[in-house]
Amino acid sequence: MALVNEHFLKLPNNYLFADIAKKVNTFKVMHPKADVISLGIGDVTQPLCPAVVEAMHKAADEMGTAEGFRGYGPEQGYDFLREAILKNDFLPRGIHLDIDEIFVNDGAKSDTGNIQELIRWDNSIGVTDPIYPVYIDSNVMIGRAGTVEDGKWSNVIYMPCNAENGFVPQIPKRRVDVIYLCYPNNPTGMVITREELRKWVNYALHNDALIFYDAAYQAYIQDESIPHSIYEIRGARKCAIEFHSYSKTAGFTGIRCGYTVVPKDLTAATLTGERIALNNLWYRRQCTKFNGTSYISQRAAEAIYTPEGKQQVKATIDYYMQNAKKMLTTLRSLGYEVYGGENAPYIWMRVPDGFQKEGGTLQTSSWRFFENLLYGANVVCTPGVGFGPAGEGYVRFTAFGSHEKTDEALSRIEAWSKK
Ligand SMILES: *Cc1c(COP(=O)(O)O)cnc(C)c1O
Repeated sequence: MALVNEHFLKLPNNYLFADIAKKVNTFKVMHPKADVISLGIGDVTQPLCPAVVEAMHKAADEMGTAEGFRGYGPEQGYDFLREAILKNDFLPRGIHLDIDEIFVNDGAKSDTGNIQELIRWDNSIGVTDPIYPVYIDSNVMIGRAGTVEDGKWSNVIYMPCNAENGFVPQIPKRRVDVIYLCYPNNPTGMVITREELRKWVNYALHNDALIFYDAAYQAYIQDESIPHSIYEIRGARKCAIEFHSYSKTAGFTGIRCGYTVVPKDLTAATLTGERIALNNLWYRRQCTKFNGTSYISQRAAEAIYTPEGKQQVKATIDYYMQNAKKMLTTLRSLGYEVYGGENAPYIWMRVPDGFQKEGGTLQTSSWRFFENLLYGANVVCTPGVGFGPAGEGYVRFTAFGSHEKTDEALSRIEAWSKK
């Protein structure tokens, strides 16, 4: 008898964005004429930049010739892209990595989900709360997270980030073996300072812990003093794995490409105390389970690092950040308490008084606000509680819309708020 992996059955079967889509569809059926604007889901909207499109055309043509054809590529990525990564993303920040420390991937979601295969099932994991759901769910699937009690997993240590603590996670009292950090943060849009990040690196070094650092939004950092990579902190290459993605950097959500850094200095212990290099393990894992990212996608990614590519990618990021600025200004002027949006494409807003849980209803304040905004202004946001217990009482808006749609959504929110 084949037995199912029952850990999967513990996963909440309601995926946040599916729930939102269902509620939006219900509204649309009831109001077929309404024009709903989504500031909800975290996908980009602006087209690929010309340098990327040109590189993909060229790569496709090459593949159609006998000399230029490529079959299976190296699992860890082509050298042309890994060299461009070292030269552009790390060297200018004083970070010297070896080419074998870069693993090109098909996106940060896959690798942030898969990386936990390298550690034993009984490590304790710590996450900032609210959080990108992939980190926890991937641990649930192999049984590391325990069971859910009151919306929290029994073997996960939650580090709340809220307005009260300035969205700065505190080092937990209980021991943590593996810590997931994501900065700039999805969903809060907040960043971590060099000093705060240093505390985590020092914690990991002193406690023989690992940090899985998701830098998917580093390209949105505007403030020069904010670190783009954890390796800007001394000692991080002994304790951290870092994930990058071209999805938000260059609109690659449909192309699929990113990379993971696994430094050679990084080790974890066996039960007998032997130190094992995770770089070798990850290489072995990728050779077995991953076929590499397509040649065309990697050529597309390489084009981001050309002078034209850099300038075009920056123009799109600036475009989104103009939305973020407008959203911050408008929402603040309406009296809302808003966070993030200065170094990230997300605005994290406190649900105003008056949307609190009412006796007898199961709905939380962030879902109540979501529905009121949908019915009152025909604008979609994301209820914060979908990102973890500490997200309750907040909603997320994304700056990934067009200028026109964002402006229109803001005027509607303004009219609705003044009613
Ligand atoms: C969008 C996003 C990613 C990127 O995922 P891809 O698989 O590269 O598209 C990674 N981490 C976070 C927190 C994200 O929001």
